[in-house]
Amino acid sequence: MSYTIEGETGPWELVIGLEVHAQVTSNAKLFSGAATEFGAEPNSQVSFVDAGFPGMLPVINRECVAQAVRTGLGLNAQVNPWSRFDRKNYFYADLPQGYQISQYQFPIVGTGQITIELADGSTREIGITRLHLEQDAGKSLHDQHPSKSYIDLNRSGVALMEIVSEPDMRSPEEAGAYLTKLRQILRYLGTCDGNMEQGSLRADVNVSVRKAGEGFRTRCEVKNVNSIRFVMQAVEAEARRQIEVWESGGTVDQETRLFDTTRGVTRSMRSKEDAHDYRYFPDPDLPPLVVDPSWIEELKAGLPELPDARRTRYVNEFGLSAYDASVLVAEKETAAFYEEVAAGRDPKVAANWVMGDFFAMLNRMGKGIEDSPVTAQHLGALLDLIADKTLSGKMAKEVLEAMGETGKPPGTIVEERGLRQVTDTGAIEAAVDAILAANPDKIAQYREKPTLFGWFVGQVMKAMKGQGNPALVNEVLKAKLGG
Ligand code: ADP
Ligand code: MG
Repeated sequence: MSYTIEGETGPWELVIGLEVHAQVTSNAKLFSGAATEFGAEPNSQVSFVDAGFPGMLPVINRECVAQAVRTGLGLNAQVNPWSRFDRKNYFYADLPQGYQISQYQFPIVGTGQITIELADGSTREIGITRLHLEQDAGKSLHDQHPSKSYIDLNRSGVALMEIVSEPDMRSPEEAGAYLTKLRQILRYLGTCDGNMEQGSLRADVNVSVRKAGEGFRTRCEVKNVNSIRFVMQAVEAEARRQIEVWESGGTVDQETRLFDTTRGVTRSMRSKEDAHDYRYFPDPDLPPLVVDPSWIEELKAGLPELPDARRTRYVNEFGLSAYDASVLVAEKETAAFYEEVAAGRDPKVAANWVMGDFFAMLNRMGKGIEDSPVTAQHLGALLDLIADKTLSGKMAKEVLEAMGETGKPPGTIVEERGLRQVTDTGAIEAAVDAILAANPDKIAQYREKPTLFGWFVGQVMKAMKGQGNPALVNEVLKAKLGG
């Protein structure tokens, strides 16, 4: 059953295609040596090329090209050995050149695909139309002065990859899953940090609606949406708006819209009528971009294992469920952490601890895995202490808590707190005997009411300061109480 939105005239299907701008991770800009670091003083990372000074010549940054090729390979896409840069001409105050250098007819990467995972466990293929390289513009600051606007050119000339999808998505969930997966792949590849709050990744969301069995109707493009949640909300809001337009006898005009995140509606920004004529033409300052097939092979050989492959491996090699595997591979830092904990240990036990108590601890502390006070090595050592019966599961939780607070290895905490599980049957028997001797009345009650067994377990554990091996305590009690 496919996703639809119910209108007055019955169900409507959604058609969605995303254009994603991903800032290339590189130290220098696409055509200049200026730095790209986020958050620097305004206009402190601007070369004459980025400021559009006359006579300055762009020179392509090899690392940015390598990043685009890696991304293409990671999207199972075809890398074009020959591509070209064009000038896209328009005036904007923060675009000092008066044009943006972009790839129009001949992008560096052609068609590919991404597999998305949906909440019900199913997967779908979403087509990639192309990926091209282009320059970012600067930034206008309108909120710094009551009557002036300021321009910050730090971003001017930073390399962007525009990744265009086919109109293959059919629901807000699919659009969200697509962006999630794309960001995951970029992060694994190290080609874009995927930081949507800082604007390193932003999506233009194209939406249209139609009746079942129809071809595509006119779409609108919702510009610059900067979170996955907002993408999903924008899809839904825009689809509902279009349904109303069609159902009230109107027609949807192709236009660019903005998503108002506080009101949850889209509003018009500009219509296609006043769309720019960009007068694209090949940039005369740049030769065609030719990439050597052997270099592509070299970059391919250097690619890391990507999330899909890793997830499959976790299921096949470690016997994890598809769901657990997905959670663990979602961030490559989490996957690396997990693998270090699991190395030489029971992978399922490791998965349970990482996803259970460890994640819960990080959550409580408001920390990410990168600044976890508990290292993978220490968590692994904790699992070893459970495996060799030094600690019960319950004691281990307590030790983990202390590890989070102090950053100390589990062995040290066990020593400091004298937290050793007692597995010596003699000691357990002595504790059991003492409790039984002190409570003859309870023993009599127990004969009538076997559920009292738990009370005895509690008393023995308390007497042993929680350090009795629970299985052994149960066993000894059963034997002494006579089953
Ligand atoms: P343009 O260059 O004018 O932006 P494209 O053909 O490149 O147009 O399409 C831009 C995006 O719009 C792509 O992601 C594509 O999948 C999506 N798209 C195209 N047609 C539709 C449609 N009818 N409904 C929804 N999305 C669409
Ligand atoms: Mg477009």
